Amino acid sequence: MTFDILIRGGELIDPAQQLRGTRDVGITAGRIAAVEPSLADAEATTVIEADGLLVVPGLVDLHVHVDRGHTPLGLDPDLLCPAGGVTTMLDTGSTGSGNFPGFRRDVIDRADTEVLALINLSCIGLAASSLGELLDRRYADVPGTVRTIREHPGVAVGVKIRAGAHIIGTGETGRANFLDAVRAARESGTWLMVHIGESPLSIPEMLEHMQPGDCITHCYKGGSERILDPAGRLFDEVRAAAEQGVVFDVGHGYGSFQWEVAESCLKQGLPPTTISTDLHTKNIQGPVYDLPTTMSKFLHLGVSLEEVIAMATTRPARVLGLEQDRGTLAVGTTADVALLEQKSGAFQLTDSYRQTRTADRLLVAAGTIRRGEVVPGGGGLWTRHLAR
Ligand SMILES: [Zn+2]
Repeated sequence: MTFDILIRGGELIDPAQQLRGTRDVGITAGRIAAVEPSLADAEATTVIEADGLLVVPGLVDLHVHVDRGHTPLGLDPDLLCPAGGVTTMLDTGSTGSGNFPGFRRDVIDRADTEVLALINLSCIGLAASSLGELLDRRYADVPGTVRTIREHPGVAVGVKIRAGAHIIGTGETGRANFLDAVRAARESGTWLMVHIGESPLSIPEMLEHMQPGDCITHCYKGGSERILDPAGRLFDEVRAAAEQGVVFDVGHGYGSFQWEVAESCLKQGLPPTTISTDLHTKNIQGPVYDLPTTMSKFLHLGVSLEEVIAMATTRPARVLGLEQDRGTLAVGTTADVALLEQKSGAFQLTDSYRQTRTADRLLVAAGTIRRGEVVPGGGGLWTRHLAR
């Protein structure tokens, strides 16, 4: 047999197939062509010796900001790809009805990495994110949001609202904005991602309007609004929503991941549905850096390697409705592959509240294959985490 790429001798983990073990992977014409215990007799144009590496589906980051050059938070999606082994990413509301077409034309369609997007209820998206995109109710554009989603099938896949009072207003203004976001999701037949944080409605109140497939992002944020009640117990409404299929997404970010909250939620039986970064210009130099670093934080909190991989591959692919083709290494699917190195040592990992813990394992993107092509670069600056 002859392949374009042959990945040899790595430890393959594919949660979608419940597969873990030493496997060789053959790739041809952009697709996974063979997964076998040994393809020793095969030939390939490119052979990757993956001894000592984990071979996992290309990572899927459910929360990034990549409207580069148009919004102050936007990063270049093609640089994030090899840095983190991320082959599919979801831009979460960087743009709204007024500026999504430019984002699509100038960034999404030009990028080699697959970028999907949520449409911000605010027609201006995050063009001036620090000013609060929905403090002026006139920016809430339900018809435009629905129209944008209809006009960009497969790319604009849902609705985003940053439901902080300093962003959508307090009292009736905040409530009206939130309900408009719910309505845009329902009318477009898609789903809603809600950024929580000092919201005008309580989390249980917001959950009353959310349905399975909708998503709470920044689920382990600290501060005055958490998915824990003031006594530190998980809200009953949160537990019920998770059981019914509301997605609880990490969205680590700049101010939205606290060790203690994550630890307590894990103890109380609420692991994240998905691990994502919320990478943007203000956190890529720390504390977030990349998706494997965020995944390593959950390894440190005791989540198993298989689960951590699932939370950044199979699960987010399912949230996006792409699970037949992404987030898996099944034969016939798109050849998106992340080669991860699991380093042992002492590594400093910092949350969004400047609390650092020392972990003994760190996941690093050692290589990335995107639609059957090896992506140059990657490897990560893992040494920045070394404890001294
Ligand atoms: Zn975000």
